[in-house]
Amino acid sequence: MKCIFGPVNSRRLGRSLGIDLFPSKICNLNCIYCEVGKTAVPVGQRGTYADPAGIAAEIDAVCADSRRMAEVDVLTVTAKGEPTLERGLGGILRHIKQKTTKPVAVLTNGTTLTDPEVQRDLMAADLVIPSLDAAREDSFRRVDRPIDGLALDAVIAGLTSFSHAYPGKLWLEILLVRGVNDRPEDIEALIEALRPMRIDRIQLNTVVRPPAEQFALPVSSERLTTVARALHQALALPVDLPFVAEAEGTAPLQVQTDEPLPTPAADGTSPEALVQEIVEMVQRRPCTAADIDRTFHLGGPDKVEQLLEPLILSGILQWQDHGDKRFYQHAR
Ligand code: SF4
Repeated sequence: MKCIFGPVNSRRLGRSLGIDLFPSKICNLNCIYCEVGKTAVPVGQRGTYADPAGIAAEIDAVCADSRRMAEVDVLTVTAKGEPTLERGLGGILRHIKQKTTKPVAVLTNGTTLTDPEVQRDLMAADLVIPSLDAAREDSFRRVDRPIDGLALDAVIAGLTSFSHAYPGKLWLEILLVRGVNDRPEDIEALIEALRPMRIDRIQLNTVVRPPAEQFALPVSSERLTTVARALHQALALPVDLPFVAEAEGTAPLQVQTDEPLPTPAADGTSPEALVQEIVEMVQRRPCTAADIDRTFHLGGPDKVEQLLEPLILSGILQWQDHGDKRFYQHAR
């Protein structure tokens, strides 16, 4: 399995080389907004779900490619699902650190930080980005739909303890879904839960790509900006709004957008290899034609749509409209 992708340009992380641990979804949550689809069978125990030897070989190859690495600011460990469920995570992180001096980030849903082994594994990372979408049990259950036995109190306690033990940067991500976890009482509960934590910044998001459930709707830019301001005022932390294009009068709030970076690997590649790279890109998350064009420089979204047409007709890819955008994804 090819697990390394990018680099993709994210203003919050810079030029990020992604390392996707799992070939298929392994998760202990079944978030209604999930971009990789519903969790067929939730997994609560750590195990060997990845191929650590294969991943190490890919890491060795990419780290030896000085041209590609020159384009990378950070290596980001992620997964179709929850990467900390992989028992080999600590070894993978340490292997990356042996191969490069570039910083390493890990994206996690934050629910496994109750486990001291997970906390120990993550110590090897330079930046950890955990999620906490709700601090009220009913909202947590409605938005993240956790596996049986996963209690919100324990999740918050694990996050709090990790935040004080971890010496690296900690950015907390919150994703709000309209009418599910965006009520005033939800925001107040989040503020109280975050108050004792040592975090460096907050990323405030909403549903921007086709979700697992059609009823998972985005929160308006105005509401997101209001919530960002409330979080900033209560916690004195920078709050990023990656998906709000404009937010006037919010300084020192950050307003950012993610822009995929040109991929040198696509230069001079055969049409077949290019198509394969595009298929792998949309397999990880639904993408618009503009997303694909920004990564591969194919001459504009119209050209991308022409290129994708045979893949749609042959049933390899499918599209789905979400908001005012059309997203391409792998036909599941
Ligand atoms: S959004 Fe992340 S944590 Fe939630 S179900 Fe999907 S992969 Fe799991």
